[in-house]
Amino acid sequence: MMKRVLPCVIMLIYGSTLPAQPSFEEEALQYLRKYLRIDTSNPPGHTLESARFLKSILEREGIATTLYESAPGSKANLLARLSATVASDKKPLLLLHHMDVVPADPARWPLDPFGAILRDGYLWGRGAMDMKAHGITHLMTLIRLKRENVPLDRDVLLLAVADEEIGGGLGAAWMIENHFSQLDPEYVLDEGGFGLQGLLSTDKIVFAVSVAEKRLLWLKLTAQGTAGHGSQPIEDNANQILMAALDRILSRPGSVGDHPVLREMSRRIGVLPDNKFTRAIRQNTISLTTLSAGVGNPPKINVIPSVSSATLDCRLLPDESPEEFIQQTRSTINDPRIEIEVVYQSVSTESSSSETPLFRVIEATLKKHYPQAVVSPVIIPYGTDSAQFRRRGVTAYGMLPVIVTPDIIGSLHGDRERIPLEGFQRGIHIFYEIVLNFLEKEVP
Ligand SMILES: [Zn+2]
Repeated sequence: MMKRVLPCVIMLIYGSTLPAQPSFEEEALQYLRKYLRIDTSNPPGHTLESARFLKSILEREGIATTLYESAPGSKANLLARLSATVASDKKPLLLLHHMDVVPADPARWPLDPFGAILRDGYLWGRGAMDMKAHGITHLMTLIRLKRENVPLDRDVLLLAVADEEIGGGLGAAWMIENHFSQLDPEYVLDEGGFGLQGLLSTDKIVFAVSVAEKRLLWLKLTAQGTAGHGSQPIEDNANQILMAALDRILSRPGSVGDHPVLREMSRRIGVLPDNKFTRAIRQNTISLTTLSAGVGNPPKINVIPSVSSATLDCRLLPDESPEEFIQQTRSTINDPRIEIEVVYQSVSTESSSSETPLFRVIEATLKKHYPQAVVSPVIIPYGTDSAQFRRRGVTAYGMLPVIVTPDIIGSLHGDRERIPLEGFQRGIHIFYEIVLNFLEKEVP
């Protein structure tokens, strides 16, 4: 009996007087694991619980927050503010991340996508890379600025939003539309870049800071032909007309663009290796994503349809004109039986200048930690919420200072999404240092 009681007594004496304080890194990891376990798959994209989770941590630290329900009871955005302690007219620095994630099919994952499991030096889970690790990095930055009473000559904001994975409608776009005066930042730090190993250079680590993104142009091609009996082939078969058109478009050689950011990348990095990522950021691209044809449900095999259609996910370099691109596509097809319809196009995307004090601080801080690495502004091939801020004239950069390989980058939206644990924890310190250097540099 005594033997069983004794450990409890010892625990009471030592456990209560000397509570084991997790280190800053452990604390961050605990928060990230809890965050990953909140399923924010979009659709349906419920973010109220995750917003409340972040809010409770911030409030415990004495940091002011406002929760905005953009779809009451389901979708929410959270804004946290550390107010300037020194009078100044500088606009805020905004740390932006989205709380929603793309869905995960548990049957295709090697482990529970919402289990936040640690294995082989990685933290696994949907959202680990895209982009809950960013969110916790931002959270820990605010917490540390607050705990260490760092003098601030501008507000530092954390904004956690809904709906990025479906275009931002009730997330970043909604906040900008309805509450921009509460944000009005000079700079936004968002997702978009990592320390890339083996992707932009064969031998150097490249810290990619995204400053621009490609423009979406979704097209639908419809071929008109003549319906008929499958027993008697005809030339005017809508499927064959469409296939011939697609063949002409997809075999058209792409031409490398001459965007200023691409020139800057070449200057800093050298010759880029050839892979799907570098091809995607250097030229306009077309992916054939859907094909549909056939008469009846299920479609009859012995009927030649009179209509056949396909959709193309086209991504244009930031300074390219969609009208010109469509015109080129039309002349490449050169067939009046094909109709081209614009299903969706994103509005023009601005680039952020890399000639800013914040970019210089990012570069200097990263170089201090990784003297051999290259830091470069980059274009990214997919869309982020940064575009919404750039459109408002805000300078937005995408970057998490964690070194990752193409395998890890490829796990985004895939069924093996994971982040290197050590890299994440080191990244928190580096990110904090970036913000601190940026702020202290300007404090009188
Ligand atoms: Zn994302």
